[in-house]
Amino acid sequence: MAPESGPAGLPAPTEVLEAARAELAATERALADIRRVRADRVDDDEHDPEGSPLSAEWARLDGLHRAAARRVAAAEAAVAHAASGRYGICQRCGGPIAAGRLEALPAAVRCVRCA
Ligand SMILES: [Zn+2]
Repeated sequence: MAPESGPAGLPAPTEVLEAARAELAATERALADIRRVRADRVDDDEHDPEGSPLSAEWARLDGLHRAAARRVAAAEAAVAHAASGRYGICQRCGGPIAAGRLEALPAAVRCVRCA
């Protein structure tokens, strides 16, 4: 087992980081697509009787993008934490992080009490 792997059955922080980075890249691509469509249409949102579908989609993707960026940052911290041999150990109190918590939040670096 690689030193950075989590306990059996739990995803390793490196896997969580990979997934978070893939999601971040996907939302970046989607935002770039909207930017291109907007540039082609010269901004006609104001005259669109349907409202502003592009603006709404942009807001939705921007929210996903920000959430993905936060997950990448959290996963990076978890990978660094695991690299120092403290996977599953609370960063604050040094106590064990419950397996159920790691299952739900593989990038958790603090126990429930310290979160
Ligand atoms: Zn703690």
